[in-house]
Amino acid sequence: LQQSVFLWLYLIIADPIPAVGLISVLCSLTAAHGLTDEQKEFQKVAFDFAANEMAPHMAEWDQKEIFPVETMRKAAQLGFGGIYVQPDFGGSGLSRLDTSVIFEALSTGCVSTTAYISIHNMCGWMIDTFGNNEQREKFCPDLCSMEKFASYCLTEPGSGSDAASLLTSAQRKGDHYILNGSKAFISGGGDTDVYVVMCRTGGKGPKGISCLVVEKGTPGLSFGKKEKKVGWNSQPTRAVIFEDCEVPVSNRLGEEGQGFGIAMKGLNGGRINIASCSLGAAHACVQLARDHLLVRKQFGETLSNNQFLQFKLAEMATKLVASRLLVREAATALQENRSDAVSLCSMAKLFATDECFNICNQALQMHGGYGYLKDYAVQQFVRDIRVHQILEGTNEVMRMIISRNLLTES
Ligand SMILES: Cc1cc2nc3c(=O)[nH]c(=O)nc-3n(C[C@H](O)[C@H](O)[C@H](O)COP(=O)(O)OP(=O)(O)OC[C@H]3O[C@@H](n4cnc5c(N)ncnc54)[C@H](O)[C@@H]3O)c2cc1C
Repeated sequence: LQQSVFLWLYLIIADPIPAVGLISVLCSLTAAHGLTDEQKEFQKVAFDFAANEMAPHMAEWDQKEIFPVETMRKAAQLGFGGIYVQPDFGGSGLSRLDTSVIFEALSTGCVSTTAYISIHNMCGWMIDTFGNNEQREKFCPDLCSMEKFASYCLTEPGSGSDAASLLTSAQRKGDHYILNGSKAFISGGGDTDVYVVMCRTGGKGPKGISCLVVEKGTPGLSFGKKEKKVGWNSQPTRAVIFEDCEVPVSNRLGEEGQGFGIAMKGLNGGRINIASCSLGAAHACVQLARDHLLVRKQFGETLSNNQFLQFKLAEMATKLVASRLLVREAATALQENRSDAVSLCSMAKLFATDECFNICNQALQMHGGYGYLKDYAVQQFVRDIRVHQILEGTNEVMRMIISRNLLTES
């Protein structure tokens, strides 16, 4: 209810003028097809926010590597800081499908910023779902308002795809754990306040892993240098280092040994979210390519008269719609806790992040040399979504999950 009020207030007070281009794609590529009236309203709010608050700044955030804290807090005022967190501690209580619709729309304004917001949402959901009431009360309100920011800490220098081999140790000493080890590639690392950390409290393998919430300022917690990246430049990425870092036992989510399951459950939703960010990039790039073909003249006519390019554009739009259908099906399966949800989330991530990267890359090709210039947004979409094929489980790992489920189901 609370977030619905926020959204309606925004619509009434701000009365934003929608970006004409985005709305036309919205109609022609059926981004709103099949959605309820309420979902169409969330979507409109998110598209407007993307067009008015994000798109005008996305190049600057990329080039100056700005983490746009105030813009994200504005997004949180619309309910986007804890979209699928329960409402009793500040969340919006929306569904996975609603979340996907919102992240797709926001990404048309800045993929990198939206992708960080999606990771933050995933962490908030993990605390909300697996934390006790004291933990939920302590962390969720500040995360939902984005007064505080969260990071997800699974990957280590020696454990990426084989995440269950992680080595960061947490030894219990009275009412504290002593953490030692390091995490690699942590989105938001160093700039965020709350670290959801998977660490080893028991023996080898997934059953020896627990999940602790580590707060910034804890003695023994430090950060590596800010990584220089191809894209995702509006959010910092750093190593997170633990040296005899004392974390209260009361910050453990769930029981000892449940951490790997918690991490994977977070990632099922995370994969839909990151795929949705790819949809937004492809959505924007189809529009940019279309606009460019309609104005650029070669051989005495606009490029839009060339049948090869017309057919390419048609294929791009078709693959975007197919990707969106799969992502939304996976979101619905996860919401309904269906037995095929894990496979569908992996399929959606694999298919949408690969296809949407190809769509954006093709859009860049259609711009010719201009597509390679930083004055044109298309190159930033290409750079920003490349990493979606790598993180939250690589697309090879997605194939492993899908085939393992196929081969073991009775
Ligand atoms: C910008 C960025 C942000 C990130 N943010 C986070 C974050 O916030 N939190 C976090 O925990 N992690 C984060 N990551 C880490 C990311 O999840 C890992 O990079 C990813 O899981 C892959 O691990 P790796 O880099 O160690 O590659 P590796 O596991 O070494 O894999 C290398 C290659 O081999 C392939 N491969 C590995 N094993 C197999 C196999 N059995 N069969 C076939 N192919 C295989 C992989 O698919 C990949 O192509 C981030 C990464 C980047 C680049």
